[in-house]
Amino acid sequence: MWSAYRMLMEAKTSALLSSSSPMSTHRIWKKIWKLKFPNKIRHFLWRAAKDSFPTKQNLRLRHIPIDDTCDGCSDQSESLMHCLWLCDQARAGSGFRCALFAMIAWFLWERRNRMRERQRTWQFHEVGDKAKELV
Ligand SMILES: [Zn+2]
Repeated sequence: MWSAYRMLMEAKTSALLSSSSPMSTHRIWKKIWKLKFPNKIRHFLWRAAKDSFPTKQNLRLRHIPIDDTCDGCSDQSESLMHCLWLCDQARAGSGFRCALFAMIAWFLWERRNRMRERQRTWQFHEVGDKAKELV
């Protein structure tokens, strides 16, 4: 389960990061803008999709002479992907994230099936809270 989650996240991220054409950039922006998240989270997602954070790896790419080793693990180059997902420090909470992902996935699938059968179901914005309650 954990590896499936990781693969999904990596595929999603690499798809976002490799999207450099104006059309796909526009589509990503539209998708992010549609999310019912606070503006600071949408802004964060946009910057993550563009890989525009001043990670040590990005600073090195901009010819700033620094050691790009991650301060968290002191082992790998500090990229955004490393900070958010690959670093041992970031993985410390992966059990919870994996369980939360599984719950959200289950609720979304159940919601979809109930809607198809025209049964009462949760509002989309309730899914996250319901999933957290179960985790
Ligand atoms: Zn690290």
